Amino acid sequence: SAAQPRKPDWIRVKAPTSAGYRETRDIIREHRLSTVCEEAGCPNVGECWSQGHATMMIMGEICTRGCTFCNVATGRPDALDVFEPGRVADAVKKLGLSHVVITSVDRDDVDDGGAEHFAQTIRAIRRQAPDTTIEILTPDFLRCGPEALEVVVAAKPDVFNHNLETVPGLYPSVRPGARYFHSLRLLQRVKELDPAMFTKSGLMVGLGETAEQVRQVMDDMRAADIDFLTIGQYLQPTPKHHAVEKFVTPDEFAALERSAYGKGFLMVSATPLTRSSYHAGDDFARLRAS
Ligand code: SF4
Ligand code: SF4
Repeated sequence: SAAQPRKPDWIRVKAPTSAGYRETRDIIREHRLSTVCEEAGCPNVGECWSQGHATMMIMGEICTRGCTFCNVATGRPDALDVFEPGRVADAVKKLGLSHVVITSVDRDDVDDGGAEHFAQTIRAIRRQAPDTTIEILTPDFLRCGPEALEVVVAAKPDVFNHNLETVPGLYPSVRPGARYFHSLRLLQRVKELDPAMFTKSGLMVGLGETAEQVRQVMDDMRAADIDFLTIGQYLQPTPKHHAVEKFVTPDEFAALERSAYGKGFLMVSATPLTRSSYHAGDDFARLRAS
């Protein structure tokens, strides 16, 4: 589209310079791991990595989907690396994380969508770093049978996160290849399989949705028993990606957060720089202590 709205001053990014940042970067490199922090060009990388919080992206750097907001390359991925779960676990141990978030590209080319690889990664982390709580942010397993999800849930992550990303009306232009009700149902199914597992989802705003549509999605999420919610401002990674239609103000975010708590979510983060994995560990620790 034409001119993009200008980035407001509440979207500020600190340059990554700290010693902690460099230590995290070195551990990631040494273990030949990918992170969504880098792949997505996340604005919080300076802050997160200085505290050792990196979100690992497993199963390669090439995705079989092509979401229009996402900076990850689309194409034909390499075969899964059977040694990756071990390297992830080793890195988690070295980073000394109390909570780790593991995500992945979408692997429509693999029969189980990568479910077993996710499960192996969870089990490897449990062995190497038994005190670390594990949050997974998964693809939608759209082209798999129900067993794929069951394999992942049986590995018992502490938090099962899958992002709805946007309101249903914007799926064709934002998340082609995905299905809103399939994703919603996936999260509901996790809760049915293991009622003790926390479920989590997230949305980006500024893609052209209305606040009313966002609140409708919150209702859908609560009807599917989703526990945690994140909402953040969409930022366009490159001019080829989906346009930013609006910069939602901090006050509007605060109003969304109040609505979400009113609807019964256990934990909500809704700020311009909120990302799915932003402060995930701190929030989870606070919840468990309360
Ligand atoms: Fe990485 Fe998430 Fe932090 Fe962004 S918010 S830098 S993706 S851990
Ligand atoms: Fe990006 Fe995930 Fe969509 Fe792949 S499925 S293009 S990694 S958002």
